[in-house]
Amino acid sequence: MRPLTRAEVRDCIVNLYPATARVRLPAWFDDTRWDRIDYLGWRDTRAQQRAYLVADIDGAAQGVMLRQNPSQPALATRAVMCDLCRFTRRFNEVALFTAPRASTDKRRRLSAVGLLLCADLDCVRNVHRTPTTGPHDPPAEQIVAARRSGLRERTADFLRSVPDTAATRRSSR
Ligand SMILES: [Zn+2]
Repeated sequence: MRPLTRAEVRDCIVNLYPATARVRLPAWFDDTRWDRIDYLGWRDTRAQQRAYLVADIDGAAQGVMLRQNPSQPALATRAVMCDLCRFTRRFNEVALFTAPRASTDKRRRLSAVGLLLCADLDCVRNVHRTPTTGPHDPPAEQIVAARRSGLRERTADFLRSVPDTAATRRSSR
């Protein structure tokens, strides 16, 4: 993805309440390998249940704050697929996160969008994993490229689903 500045990342979280709350960037921010990742994802070091997911959508940074759901009883016995990278992992490696909906209307803010996501926000490791290919499969680089474009698309779709589009339309009128 396009390298983002600290300011871009801090200012692009759409569902931060209060809006003045400070986004703590990851300690490794300056070492980010932008060419390798399709979203920037990290946990807040001082609030482990809180995470951030940021991507570049059509040239603009867009991000959301996520909260990890503390209990996942229904998932505890099986393998679970991450909604973004679509890799199936052990149940404890995928977590249910929710993004409170961004809205100026308090009542709408009570609703949230959920997603199952690699608990360490490390989809990047899965999509780059070397695929085992047979003689009739496309070359490995092509498979990795397809995984990455899928990951980018699904991340963008999710990020777009968090803002309250009805409210955005109203305010831009
Ligand atoms: Zn994943």
